[in-house]
Amino acid sequence: MTLSVLVTIDTESYSQGHPDQHIWGRTADGQEHGIRAIMDILERHGVRGTFYVNVYEAGRHGEEALREVVRAIDERGHEVGLHTHPRDLYGVEKLTRADVPRQMEILAWGQHFIEAATGKPVLAHRAGAFAANLKTIEALGKLGVEVDASLSPAWFESHLAREVESGNRPMSLGGLLELPVTYYVQARLGSREFQRMIDIEACSLRELKTIVRQAQAQEAGAINLLMHSHSFALAGAHDRTLVKRLDAFLRFLATQPGAQATTTAQFFEQWRTTGTTAPVGQPFVPYTGWWTTYLRTVESIGRGWKNTAAALAPPIALAALAAAAGALYRSA
Ligand SMILES: [Zn+2]
Repeated sequence: MTLSVLVTIDTESYSQGHPDQHIWGRTADGQEHGIRAIMDILERHGVRGTFYVNVYEAGRHGEEALREVVRAIDERGHEVGLHTHPRDLYGVEKLTRADVPRQMEILAWGQHFIEAATGKPVLAHRAGAFAANLKTIEALGKLGVEVDASLSPAWFESHLAREVESGNRPMSLGGLLELPVTYYVQARLGSREFQRMIDIEACSLRELKTIVRQAQAQEAGAINLLMHSHSFALAGAHDRTLVKRLDAFLRFLATQPGAQATTTAQFFEQWRTTGTTAPVGQPFVPYTGWWTTYLRTVESIGRGWKNTAAALAPPIALAALAAAAGALYRSA
């Protein structure tokens, strides 16, 4: 079975942010490192992405600003999905805080906004903060949206992940295709698992390759790679490391037999025509291990104090243990 790798881009600005910075990725030098730069890289490898656009930002930045974003993506043959952070228009922080009729009202607004701009039906939805529940699935079904990509077992408050078992594989849910946000286990300590989402910002190239190989071996069907419109310009500066990582990952995929970058529409079509594309039952849990995790943290030294602290913690902890053991030995 061919493994489909879906590149999905949550396209949004922060609550205090602006599309100029967080969607178009404009930096002080006048360059752009946002959605156009992401599309440039994908297209160099013959790949199209799924951009989940938070059109509700129209409440802060005006409808024309968001229409421009939707059109820029659609015009280049990439997919526009619906991303729901409804607060700016509806005063509702998360979809899960609304009942089915209210969720339908919110979702329908975004669906119609995108459809009016592109002239095409909205195929897929991802809830902001992964805050979807079974009511969301019911609402999407009633509106004719056929794919949801909100179920995220590795996210601390994914309602949907608590309501249904996903096995980390694409699955049928309430008549929709559910594409879980793929997670992996980076390390285990006793019965405790340290889960992480597959995210271009959070995973090393080594981890991404390991996960793809395991997904192929376990016939996962599809995996999601998560990123954001501002991944390459998060701190207001161009992040070349992440650009190189995405580029190298796509190059790796092109040389990997039995794996290919696929759009959500292509995967949906395959799923619809052939039924379920993955063996049901066995959960797919990629495992990368302590060493790969440690190498990632070492590589990320200098990319923020948290990464640096994480990288330095094991040797410091070992040294502290050794010192404590020495003190005990001397006092005995
Ligand atoms: Zn979001």
